[in-house]
Amino acid sequence: MSPASHTLPYRTLECEWDVIVAGGGTAGAVAGIAAARTGARVLVIEAQGSLGGTGTNAWVTPLMRNVSGGENLNRGLTEEIKARMRERSDGAIDPGGNDNWFNPEGLKFVLDDLLHEASGEILFHTQVVAPLLQADQITALVVHNKGGLQALRARVFIDATGDADVAAGAGVPCHGGDEHGLHQAMSLRFTLAGVDTVRLCDFLNASGQHQASADFLHFWMVWDRRSSLEPLFRRAVEQGVLLERDGDYFQAFSVPGRPRELSFNCPRIRPDLHDGADPWQLSAAQVDGRQAIMRLTAFCRTFLPGCEEAFVGVVAPMVGVRETRRIQGDYTLSVADILDCTKFEDSICRNHYPVDIHSVKGGAKLLHERDGEAPYFAPDAWHEIPYRCILPQGVQNLLVPGRAASSTFEAQSSIRVQQNCHSMGEAAGIAAAWAARRHDGQVRDVNVRALQDELRQRGGLV
Ligand SMILES: Cc1cc2nc3c(=O)[nH]c(=O)nc-3n(C[C@H](O)[C@H](O)[C@H](O)COP(=O)(O)OP(=O)(O)OC[C@H]3O[C@@H](n4cnc5c(N)ncnc54)[C@H](O)[C@@H]3O)c2cc1C
Repeated sequence: MSPASHTLPYRTLECEWDVIVAGGGTAGAVAGIAAARTGARVLVIEAQGSLGGTGTNAWVTPLMRNVSGGENLNRGLTEEIKARMRERSDGAIDPGGNDNWFNPEGLKFVLDDLLHEASGEILFHTQVVAPLLQADQITALVVHNKGGLQALRARVFIDATGDADVAAGAGVPCHGGDEHGLHQAMSLRFTLAGVDTVRLCDFLNASGQHQASADFLHFWMVWDRRSSLEPLFRRAVEQGVLLERDGDYFQAFSVPGRPRELSFNCPRIRPDLHDGADPWQLSAAQVDGRQAIMRLTAFCRTFLPGCEEAFVGVVAPMVGVRETRRIQGDYTLSVADILDCTKFEDSICRNHYPVDIHSVKGGAKLLHERDGEAPYFAPDAWHEIPYRCILPQGVQNLLVPGRAASSTFEAQSSIRVQQNCHSMGEAAGIAAAWAARRHDGQVRDVNVRALQDELRQRGGLV
């Protein structure tokens, strides 16, 4: 996208919204609900046919634990979503009571309901193409859908595309990848259905991966990490069932509400395909992922007792993208902020999840800098994410919550987990509604103390 794309032959709709949310994903769905609850007229624009983004359409379950002193740091709408999920008959909680696990299909219904109840509007199957700008304000988003090219106007915009599509199109400076421009690995998640989980559980217990119960399985293999499954993977590679890289990261677990089905946090996509904001790489990743899914399915059917009759249940509609563009915001969160547990006057979210880099060079890195010594390592530690991290430089009526928030590569790998995206989204939604209704669209005029009070009133921890 380029700022010059206003020459496209679009049709401008009469209607004007207070807030348009681009991308109804993990952060965007929550932002839309929060803004609508704040009294704004809200439209969420989503490329797929359901809300939830990576959490639903990339099949990323669970919500990663973000805990300090035994307490969950993300509250407010993220807690409400969990409560709604617990009420559902298709399950949202594991037998051990951990409600961070969820059934992605169930979450789609819950998000629909919450947005609808708040009177938020939704436009599915619609791709945001480009923002239209007057000076440093976005006036409309040009979108493409079955109606052709249309310009949709609003006072305030929330870019929750994960890839900062709107911000980049508006000319906001963006960063991507590590110091070599390498992004985190993408993954295409899938499920295997028709698994005899009792037999598989017995096998895993016998082979050294302890399982509490056949009702909820969790097993893994990463080369050279002493997984009891490594000899099986080695044999499968020797027999040509798997490729060497299929063992760079393999993880599977049960899904609440979906008996006899296993969800896989893999395969990782080929390392040269690492930029999810590059349409050609993203497309090639889809094919590469499906090929790997066939290999992993063959492996499970051949080598894992209980999987002989298993078949592919779901291939996630979206490739799982961990990191692409990150905006240059008014503040850039760094790994030092995480390690030193930096607190900010304009905090909108607390985090204690570690640096977690799925490198395309293989393996995964959890935080180890100043290992055990930095304040971060205290069990009751946390750092904060300031409102300024979601304020993109150079545009006055745009907010960017979620994985594209302003942060370094390492810091992003920590704050990107879903519950933080929910919390950033909730703050962005309230702020956008206030900016639209009270501050002529200016997101920097929002009173952040009042925003924090509002988040607390809604159950948030800030
Ligand atoms: C493989 C993988 C495993 C992970 N594991 C975990 C885990 O176990 N636990 C955890 O908590 N987190 C995990 N994460 C991280 C977490 O899921 C993501 O960082 C988070 O969901 C991103 O949220 P987001 O709102 O920024 O983006 P998304 O949830 O991806 O939302 C972006 C939305 O915008 C839409 N969109 C994009 N571009 C456009 C456009 N131009 N027009 C219209 N719509 C558009 C997309 O369709 C999507 O719905 C994982 C991520 C991946 C990829």
